[in-house]
Amino acid sequence: MILAIQPEETVRSFVERTLFIKGKRSSEEVFRNFPNSPSRADILALAEVLGWPGCYGLNKILHTHTNYPFTAVFKNSQDISYSGNEYISHSGCYDSNRKPSGFCPVCVAEDNERLGFSFWRRAHCFKLKVCAEHNVELVKRCPVCDKQFSHGGHDLGVMWKACEGRHLKDSPVTLNTDPFELKKAQIFTDILSFTHHLSEEAVLAVLNGKIHQDGVFEQKIWNSESDRHLGDKIERRLGIVKRARSVNRLPPDEPTDFIIQAIAETYEIFADFVSDVKAYGDEMRPIDSLWSTYIAGHQESTHFVEENYKHGVGDWSCPFPAKEVWGMWDWRPVYYPCCNFERPKRKGPQPKRVKNAPPGIYRQQ
Ligand SMILES: [Zn+2]
Ligand SMILES: [Zn+2]
Repeated sequence: MILAIQPEETVRSFVERTLFIKGKRSSEEVFRNFPNSPSRADILALAEVLGWPGCYGLNKILHTHTNYPFTAVFKNSQDISYSGNEYISHSGCYDSNRKPSGFCPVCVAEDNERLGFSFWRRAHCFKLKVCAEHNVELVKRCPVCDKQFSHGGHDLGVMWKACEGRHLKDSPVTLNTDPFELKKAQIFTDILSFTHHLSEEAVLAVLNGKIHQDGVFEQKIWNSESDRHLGDKIERRLGIVKRARSVNRLPPDEPTDFIIQAIAETYEIFADFVSDVKAYGDEMRPIDSLWSTYIAGHQESTHFVEENYKHGVGDWSCPFPAKEVWGMWDWRPVYYPCCNFERPKRKGPQPKRVKNAPPGIYRQQ
């Protein structure tokens, strides 16, 4: 029997809570062997244990229990995958135990009232300083011994035990007095729980317009080098995204920190930003509509596979064939070791063997 993962609970909190409650010996292997810096394969194995298999399951856990939405909510309109090629890549690292966790003492006390226990929330294990719901300062170090909640300090199990006899739910509460920190926390929380993808081009165009129209921000920009840099960055990225769309190419990925920072600097609430983005006219796609699809490869065009669990097959598509070739591409023919009886002989550049096949697709019973 698997414990239920709580809404907003981090992956690491769920793993450590399971190990604490069931004991190391009686916990399933995926919990016992969960590494300090989990890779995509570890997250996928955990999703499977929760009953969420395949590409859909990986994206469901990324979206609901990690901070991946900060990346994925802002989505290029020609990308029909939730997390690009994460499902078949080997590079990702999520929720490392080196990143410090934190908690809101009011949330923890309320959880204890309601559930009899608490857990670590994703928004509180991020760089925010305030709980968006209670406007109190997040606690990032143990109030008893001053250790951080990360590797080398307390492990997350301290939430269910105590430190020197004192429970975290009894930690002192400090009200936040910085309105910007509260607004930031609210915007970040709204992004995490937002139900649709926002078109990256629309987001950048709206922010660019706002920065240039808004006299207050423009004045601020002149006074601050970092804000000036933010304005330049938005304008530059908007150019790249528009050009890429005009030739049906996905632009290279870029971290979205500057977008979120610009929203927090120019809007009071996230809902106002969303209505401006809607007015731009790009389609708003529901978040879970892209969970089954991953990027299977880039040649000059992007190729997608949508896993179809009813039939247990993958539907391949290339919905936006590139209109022109950018840069150098490897045009050597490929050969399939399973189907070609003999490697084709040719002069000049030699054919290359196809890489690993995409993962198999489970079929719902
Ligand atoms: Zn709280
Ligand atoms: Zn402590």
